[in-house]
Formats: sequence, structure tokens, C-alpha cells
Amino acid sequence: MSDDRLQLIPWDTHNQNLVAHVHPSDWVNPEPEPIYNLVVIGAGTAGLVTAAGAAGLGAKVALIEKHLMGGDCLNVGCVPSKATIASSRLVGDFRHASDFGIGVPRDPEIDFAAVMGRMREIRAGISHHDSARRFQNLGVDVFFGDGFFVGGNAIAVAGKQLRFKKAVIATGARAAIPEIPGLVEAGYLTNETVFSLTERPRRFAVIGGGPIGCELAQAFDRLGSEVILFHKNAHLLDREDADAAAIVQQQFMDEGIQLVLNAKLQRVETTEAGKTLSYESNGQTQAIAVDEILVATGRQPNVESLNLEAVGVNYDRRQGVEVNDYLETSNPKIYAAGDVCMKWKFTHAADAAARIVIKNSLFSVFGLGKSRLSDLTMPWSTYTDPEIAHVGLYEQEARAKGIDLDTFMVPMSSVDRAIADGETQGFVKIQVKKGTDRIVGATVVARHGGDLISEITLAMANGIGLGAIANVIHPYPTQAEAIKKAADAYNRTRLTPFVKTLFERWLAWQRG
Ligand SMILES: Cc1cc2nc3c(=O)[nH]c(=O)nc-3n(C[C@H](O)[C@H](O)[C@H](O)COP(=O)(O)OP(=O)(O)OC[C@H]3O[C@@H](n4cnc5c(N)ncnc54)[C@H](O)[C@@H]3O)c2cc1C
Repeated sequence: MSDDRLQLIPWDTHNQNLVAHVHPSDWVNPEPEPIYNLVVIGAGTAGLVTAAGAAGLGAKVALIEKHLMGGDCLNVGCVPSKATIASSRLVGDFRHASDFGIGVPRDPEIDFAAVMGRMREIRAGISHHDSARRFQNLGVDVFFGDGFFVGGNAIAVAGKQLRFKKAVIATGARAAIPEIPGLVEAGYLTNETVFSLTERPRRFAVIGGGPIGCELAQAFDRLGSEVILFHKNAHLLDREDADAAAIVQQQFMDEGIQLVLNAKLQRVETTEAGKTLSYESNGQTQAIAVDEILVATGRQPNVESLNLEAVGVNYDRRQGVEVNDYLETSNPKIYAAGDVCMKWKFTHAADAAARIVIKNSLFSVFGLGKSRLSDLTMPWSTYTDPEIAHVGLYEQEARAKGIDLDTFMVPMSSVDRAIADGETQGFVKIQVKKGTDRIVGATVVARHGGDLISEITLAMANGIGLGAIANVIHPYPTQAEAIKKAADAYNRTRLTPFVKTLFERWLAWQRG
């Protein structure tokens, strides 16, 4: 690791504090133990949770990181994006302040440098959780350097060999870069560089209308950039529930984000006007000049430099390390967890997978008592405004599995607290197996959708039916009442004409 890669841009006190925690310049790698129970490559969420959990249970653990502990989530993912989004949401609130009787300028002055400074301060402030010294104090041997396999039971790092009984590949993923002629020459940003900006790009192109592209397009638009968002398909966020994605897409158009759908980017040239993107969309060819281009076209697993061939670990450059349901690779001594091997590329998914790896790699005797990835109930959320959160199957997935559904949908505009908050956009949609109250999937579109989804996840993970949620008292007025309303709607379906007739006769008899 050359020192300049550790001089994060800008090299201010916040970034210095961050690096002091997650890759201290004076760190001396320890002398390796003769053999470790577990050697983990990669100190992002998956690696950190595996290492801390295993060491806490008494295992000898080595953790290898080539750049910054905390991985994407802390350094160039969840944390900086959500801190930036928090500032941008305030701008969104200001735009509607007069609806609440508050007189503020519709377009407040935005100090972009201060927004990014706040983000860096927050990131540095929480980085001690992932710090090298904290992990050392937990009993983990932390090694900085590039880790790679050197044989059936050893990993090399910074000139040392670490022998293992079991190893875990937790090397994460990076931005996949599309092959657009001229893009490399013109220069582009990814999630690894966008949070180093200190000046607002006046004209900002985002390539990719998935979660990362959409979150950052809306944030930069609200922070004052003129944003153009290119997406190769006909709708933004097209993996999500179509009704949900349509609400976010409409919101983007209302906010003035220029959307180019069905976009085919042909080339990028550097002209006097700036970085000029030529593109075709719906049969029309056009060009637009911007100051910065953010590439957010998916993630590519970090598998290349690990020498996986030498240890018989199968992988695919796009899908990552091949694992079975127990997160075992094709080499029984080697496991994988997180973005490097899973379709769920989320921090909480990496965390959950790490817990499975600890159990399966260290505590399963003769293959008994192992946990499965497919047993997890995995929610996720995209932090646009409004947020889209989902858990379980999508409608088309359920139909493909031959599951017929009943759908209960409650618009946020019918929820008193959402009305009071001026947050009426969106809905709660809960789908159950037809004729039962077994929840198959749910989507929440709401300002705080990511928080609301947990109640439904709790129910699904514990086999609690929608009918039972109707019996749970929800404080009034809260936005979570939308979930209770969906449950009440389910309960009403149980009042069949026959039951209703019985009730009517019973009540008539009571009247004498
Ligand atoms: C912009 C953005 C926003 C996101 N927002 C969210 C969000 O809001 N919520 C959410 O749940 N998820 C979010 N994610 C996804 C989340 O960041 C990832 O799912 C998570 O970080 C995956 O953790 P991981 O441990 O698998 O990999 P990583 O965090 O990528 O960690 C892998 C680590 O391995 C190291 N490494 C790689 N190769 C080697 C090697 N050979 N030797 C030593 N070390 C190596 C890397 O340097 C890295 O530190 C976001 C991602 C991005 C990019």
C-alpha cells in the first residue's frame, strides 16, 4: 500500500481521523500465530463481523485488509451516502416549508463544501467501531496488505504467511465500469471518488438508474447540481415493485431531474463545453455536456488477485465466488460472505452471512447443525425520497412459483400521521398467500419506508400472519399504522357473507 492511497482527498482532520482508525500509518503487522482457526481476507462488514464474532467465541483469528477497515459501507457506501442524503433531504423539506406555514427561501443557500465536510466528520466520528485497535483489543490479529492464497492452507500478506484451518473470502465488490468509448479518457467518478468532492459539479451526469444511481442523483439534484440520469431500461429501479418505482420516478421528474430512459450511451468526448456524452434514446441521438460523470451501473466482485485457482475455489468474474447455501466454496476449508459472493449486496446481508459463516466453519461437527443462507428473511431499502423498502417475494416471483396472492394496499394518504407530516406519497402493500394470512412479500414506499419494513420482516421471519398484526396495538398517530390498516383490511375479508348472516341473526335474537 503506497502512502498516497491513504492520503484521502481532502486530507483534512476528518479524513486524518478516519485513516488513523481504519488504517493507522504506524501500524505494525503482528507476528503470525503458528496456525489460525480462521483467516479472513477483507475487513468490510462481512470480514469484521466474522472476525469479531469468531474471536469473541475464543477462536484464533487473523483479519487482512488491503485498504481501509470498514470497507465500502463505512468509507464509500452506506455511511457517506446517507450523511449526504440527510443534507439533501433538508433541501427537499425547505422546498415545501411554505405548505407548513414556515417562510424560508424556496431555494436555500447550499454550502456544498460544508455538506461534504459534515459527511466526512460523521464518517470519521463512527469509524472507531471498525478501527484496527478495537479489533486488536478484541483479540484479532490485524494485518494490512494484499491477501492471497499460496496453497491449500496458507494466505500470504505483506511478506508473511498465515496458516489456517478455515479461511473466509470477504473481499467485497467494486463499481462495474461500462465499456463506453472515451469514458476512461474523459474521466469519471464512482462511489470510491464521489465522496471526495469538495466543489459541487454544476452539471452532473449519473449513469445507472439502480439504487446507488437514484440515491445520488436525487441527492446531488437537491444539493444544487443540474442532474441528468441515464438508465438503460424503460423505468428507474426496475427490479423493484413497478407501482413503487413509478412513484419515485414521478418524484424525480417533479424535482426536475432530467431522465433519459432506454438510454444507449455511445461515447464520451472532452470538448470545450465539458465532458460530452452522446447517447441514443427511443430512436433519437443527442449529446449533452456535463462537468462530472458518476458511474453507478452495478457491482463487480473482487475475485481477481486472490489466486483462487491455486486453492480450487470456483468463481465467476461477474457473479463472484461460487458458494452453496452454507456459504461453503468449492474448497471445503474456504468460505465466502458478503458482496463477493451474494446477490444481496447490502451491509445487513453481509452481517447476517458472516454469522452463518462463523457457525458453519467453526461449530459444525460432521456437517451437522449448519445454517442456510436461504433461511434468511432479507429486507432492503433504497434511500430515495420517498424510500422504497421491500421484503420477501415480488409479485412476479410469487406467480412464477405458482403462489396465488391476495394484496392489501394502504396509501400513505389515508394515514393520519402521514397527512399531518405532509408525507402522503407512497403506500404499504402486503401480499399474502391467497385465502390465508401468510405474508409472502411486502413493499413500502414512504418517507421512512426503510424503518417501516422491519415490522413486516419481524412477522415474516417468525411466521406471524397478517391477521395477528391486526391485534397489535400501534400508537396513534404513527405512520406504522399503515401496516395495521393493511392487517385490518385482511381481517375484514374473514367476514364472509355467511359469517355476517350468523352475526346478524345472533344480534337480532339478542334484541328479542
Ligand atoms: C454508494 C453505496 C451506498 C450503499 N448504501 C447501502 C445502504 O444504504 N445499505 C446497505 O445495506 N448497503 C449499502 N451499500 C452496500 C454495502 O456497502 C455493501 O453491501 C457492504 O459494504 C458489503 O460488505 P462486504 O464486507 O461484503 O464488502 P466490502 O465492504 O466491499 O469490504 C471488502 C473489503 O475487502 C478488502 N479487500 C479486497 N480485496 C482484498 C485483498 N486481496 N486483500 C485484503 N483486503 C482486500 C477491501 O479493501 C474492502 O475493505 C452501499 C454501497 C454503495 C457503493
